Amino acid sequence: MQISADKVVGFHYNLTDVDGTLLETSYDTDPTLYLHGHKNILPALEDHLEGKSVGDKIKITVTPEQAYGERKEGAVQRIPIKHLHNHSAIKNKLKPGSRVSVNTQNGPWEAVVLKVGKFNVDIDSNHPLAGKTLNFDIEVSSIREATAEELAHGHAHGAGGHNHS
Ligand code: ZN
Repeated sequence: MQISADKVVGFHYNLTDVDGTLLETSYDTDPTLYLHGHKNILPALEDHLEGKSVGDKIKITVTPEQAYGERKEGAVQRIPIKHLHNHSAIKNKLKPGSRVSVNTQNGPWEAVVLKVGKFNVDIDSNHPLAGKTLNFDIEVSSIREATAEELAHGHAHGAGGHNHS
């Protein structure tokens, strides 16, 4: 089976910056699961994964424009802690530099905490990977047909995919 629209694809990846520093890896957890053709992942990655098979390894370099944009100065926002994903579990651990996920109408938004108050946090609303050229080393680990429910939701379900709990 090859990757094409409406397939659920699992992959492992290492993400490094231009200096070779490891920024993220999936190898210590479940493979990332996504629904191909539904903008679940960066379009540049989706383009390169099209037509690939299980076991294929690909290297992709994406520019900030293809990924999370350039860093914007002064992109500070004050957010109620209760708007952070998983806020009851993380509120006592928040500190400057913590990576958080903000719940927004357009889905989760990754950000970095600058300052922690009693009810609010100041965040740098630049994505933590903004301004970076990113090297992805990807290994395709599974491909299957999507279920009707996954197609209706527009994302993959299961370990490494969308978790509704
Ligand atoms: Zn769903």
